[in-house]
Amino acid sequence: MARIGGRDRGLFQRKSSPEWWIRWTCPYGHEHAEKVGPKSLARTLYQQRKVAVKTDGYCLAQDRERQRREQATLFRDGAEIMSRFLPACMIALAREYFSISLPHRLKNLAA
Ligand SMILES: [Zn+2]
Repeated sequence: MARIGGRDRGLFQRKSSPEWWIRWTCPYGHEHAEKVGPKSLARTLYQQRKVAVKTDGYCLAQDRERQRREQATLFRDGAEIMSRFLPACMIALAREYFSISLPHRLKNLAA
């Protein structure tokens, strides 16, 4: 699609929406579209995407998948640490709880 002076390539608007979108193709041949907002921001992000595609072989789907995996890893690591840490911690808590006299416990509950 030829545009005068080649300006605003990759930028478009959806019908009945003031927001600007960018459309670009990643090295895997996906046609990615992202809603950006203001036209100037869309132009900037489009340029950034083009640079990222050229320098890093950037793909939005892969980037989102990577982020999802990182979060899953963070969660798994956290759960693993908790499962290792919690039993000992709970035993200590239970011991502490049952070693305290009943009146003291009731006083704590009332506070
Ligand atoms: Zn892609």
